[in-house]
Amino acid sequence: MFNISSIYKNTCVTSYLVLQTRYKTKIHWSKLKKKTGPKYKALNHFDEFYASVFGDAKWQAMREAMLRRSKYVALVNNYGDADKTMEELTKRGAHCLKKLITIQQEFNKEYNITPEPTQVVEMDGQSERLTEYMERQHTDEISNIYPNSENKPEKLDMEDEEEVKVKKVNQEVSLTNKTLDESIAEAKIDESRIIDPSLGMTSESLYQFLPATKLKGMDEWVPESVHYSYYSKEKDFPFIIEPEGPLKYPEHLKVFTYEMDSDQTTFPEPKRCQTGVYNYYPMDCGSILPVLALDLRPGDRVLDLCSAPGGKALVALQTLLPDVVVCNDISISRLNRIQRSFREYLFDFETSNKWRERVVFKRVDGRLYTDDLGFDKVLVDVPCTTDRHSMNEDENNIFRPDRVKERLRIPEMQSQLLVNALRLVKVGGTVVYSTCSLSPIQNDGVVHMGMKQAFENNNIIVKVKNMSLTMSGLTSTLVLGTGSAAPKYGQLVTPSVGANFGPSYIAKLIRMR
Ligand code: SAM
Repeated sequence: MFNISSIYKNTCVTSYLVLQTRYKTKIHWSKLKKKTGPKYKALNHFDEFYASVFGDAKWQAMREAMLRRSKYVALVNNYGDADKTMEELTKRGAHCLKKLITIQQEFNKEYNITPEPTQVVEMDGQSERLTEYMERQHTDEISNIYPNSENKPEKLDMEDEEEVKVKKVNQEVSLTNKTLDESIAEAKIDESRIIDPSLGMTSESLYQFLPATKLKGMDEWVPESVHYSYYSKEKDFPFIIEPEGPLKYPEHLKVFTYEMDSDQTTFPEPKRCQTGVYNYYPMDCGSILPVLALDLRPGDRVLDLCSAPGGKALVALQTLLPDVVVCNDISISRLNRIQRSFREYLFDFETSNKWRERVVFKRVDGRLYTDDLGFDKVLVDVPCTTDRHSMNEDENNIFRPDRVKERLRIPEMQSQLLVNALRLVKVGGTVVYSTCSLSPIQNDGVVHMGMKQAFENNNIIVKVKNMSLTMSGLTSTLVLGTGSAAPKYGQLVTPSVGANFGPSYIAKLIRMR
């Protein structure tokens, strides 16, 4: 029998025990709660995925850097007091990127240092590691679904059959080039694999690796197998990989950076110049690379398909080379951000007709963008898992539980954007595909899938440019992935404590037909 005093006493004891536990662990409740938040989800996912793909040591080094403050370069504004700004930055110990590249290129030449080539064949077994990773996830997933070991063998036998069915459905998905929605709608409902959410099996692994074709009553779920189908190592369509020559650094592009391993990593706040615009734009050095890869020429008509907040478009404009830059983005608020930023950096941006002709804003879904003239250069800087952001910030995090479907669909969306970029570029023109993710699925996987779809659906043939030599002058400034971290088609800026830029992936494609 409980009376008031015994209830009170019990409550006190419980509170005391809870407090004692809190005190013992020395972790505040709010922090404990946060440990399950999206950024921890992202970190857990990356720990598992990237350690499998790149190897533990490489991933641990990148992880450590990505959890620290990132490094920036200063993009000097040609429309402000450029000479004065460069003088000030030099006094602070920063170096001109163009000079660093030239010195490194000469050094490489003198000592006959040839860059590690991007290989057409398998580099350090990355695809095998990825396949192994997927198989391991699949086994884990089965033990999650059938935790009772006595039932396992029977269920596992069924699983094999189901796997064949699922594989067949997935093959059909890619063969018929149907949209994911169409394919899911047509897929047979696999009743034996329906999971009741009330069972509480909401672990990250279940969210991500459930290979069912359709889950009743859980519309936000999509099959993980579709997500992973974007990484394929088979060359099942014609394309060429050709080496690209040394980097032609744009004459007027002024970027300043601190040396690798320097203690100095930050610049002071940008200042207003006499013309009213800011003197420089701070940005990740990895964001300069896609514009360098575009190899802009005077008179180029450029499309920046996913442009906001406009950092790379600003780099393109600071080269003073393109005739027209079309800045497209699906989001109106983010397009407004580009316009605000351009007003702060481009003199007379609001009033001058010159800018109205040179910079065009469009708000179109990049997958549906059409154009009659064709572009000389197209940049496709796609939405991705923004790895550094996802590991560090809960706000706007793609690993939020309510964004699972959106996240798993990222590779599909990326390859659709890439295919449309290949359609929009002139024959002979350049498409640069970039992400700020380390994921081989979103990087090489999407490039592979994009080229395949462009060939199958639009008869487009593409030449991949191997940029190992082009980017080799940058190795005294940033770290490019080698060995298990070297992509097949592109270049990967891998974060490191001494040169904490990236991640950034860049692939350069030339449309041949
Ligand atoms: N290039 C930008 C820069 O350097 O500042 C960053 C681009 S950000 C990685 C990706 C952008 O793609 C976002 O601004 C997002 O609004 C936009 N986006 C997402 N889906 C899109 C779509 N279907 N079509 C066009 N833009 C899209």
